[in-house]
Amino acid sequence: MPSINPDRLLGDLYKLRTFGTYKTGVHRPTFSPEDVASRQWLTERMTDAGLDAQIDGIGNVVGFTRVSGRKVLAGSHIESQNYAGWLDGPLGVIYALEAARSLREDPTTGDAGIDVIAFCDEEGHFGIFLGSRSFLGQVSEADIDKARDRMRGTPMREALAKAGYAGRPRLKIDPRRYVGYFEAHIEQGRTLETGNLKVGVVTGLVGLFNYRITAVGQQNHAGTTMMWERRDAGLTLIRLASAIDRRFGQLKAERTVWTFGSMKFEPGEPSIIPGHAQAVLQFRDADLAVLERMEAALFEILDEANRTGPCEISRENLRRNVPAAMDAGFQQALEDAAAHHAPGLAIRMPSAAGHDAQIMAQVIPAGMMFVPSIGGISHHWAEDTSDEDIVLGARVFTDAIARVLRV
Ligand SMILES: [Zn+2]
Repeated sequence: MPSINPDRLLGDLYKLRTFGTYKTGVHRPTFSPEDVASRQWLTERMTDAGLDAQIDGIGNVVGFTRVSGRKVLAGSHIESQNYAGWLDGPLGVIYALEAARSLREDPTTGDAGIDVIAFCDEEGHFGIFLGSRSFLGQVSEADIDKARDRMRGTPMREALAKAGYAGRPRLKIDPRRYVGYFEAHIEQGRTLETGNLKVGVVTGLVGLFNYRITAVGQQNHAGTTMMWERRDAGLTLIRLASAIDRRFGQLKAERTVWTFGSMKFEPGEPSIIPGHAQAVLQFRDADLAVLERMEAALFEILDEANRTGPCEISRENLRRNVPAAMDAGFQQALEDAAAHHAPGLAIRMPSAAGHDAQIMAQVIPAGMMFVPSIGGISHHWAEDTSDEDIVLGARVFTDAIARVLRV
């Protein structure tokens, strides 16, 4: 069985943490100077590991193995959210790198190997899963022309040119090359920690639907316009949100969540009845049937409100990610590996957050595992996992891949 080198694994993770250090976390948004430097560093570590490394035209970093036998693709991302944690992304990339090195050093692994990948911009500074979707051929040149940094507005073309990636070809997956895709990630929640568990075997990644709901009424004087004659877009939207919340409460599954992340009234003054109001509703679940019944209920409520007035209601779908199931055989391999290294300390669970694995699952079998997050904290500089848990997770991850490759 291949065995990982804990010092080498932790050493690489600590080194990656020095690019854009912020308090105990990192600030390494996509294509920032620190991010570009970390991508370059990663190619060097890949080369040291005997991989053919390159950075493509959208910033994906890939290290190709030279072996001729069975192969998996494994990785995650290395850019961070703004002023965020050091492990969200890097853990999965360095696990993949360490697994590739361990397999290479182990005579029992034979001619099997791992291609290591860091997908660019999983954190969505410029778009939605741009790196992994580009790797599947789902991102056009026009999409890149349009993409801008969500905080600073910098065009993606400009950022790519500054990084030195402009004009490079974009790599595309050859699905026949792989048995499948593996990704490890910190849990970013408290399921493992509260259960005193060490490994989460991901069953599937939740889907999410985003809808913009707009109410149009009549802007008017808030003192002289009687209640009966008002067409108050703001109040209409508040009532709708409340009705949707009540209805979703009846339709939800165990882990369904929904959020009104934004609500805006126009003109937004104390003495003016809003003539226009807009909200964004998001709902998530791991089961497409649950999402679809909530969507149907949403439409019903909005249509009914439109019929009865007093405002015109419209809806627009902003995002429709369907849930992605993880491969049953890979789940079993992760569970078997966990039973060996951490007996009784693994649990099967869905992922409530999005990851590149859900994109890869569209074309090849995918498997994913979680390690505990201290306090469940993530997307914050305090995000952390103990060295002990990091090392244990890497053992399980590497062993699971070896089991899949050996079959
Ligand atoms: Zn992540």
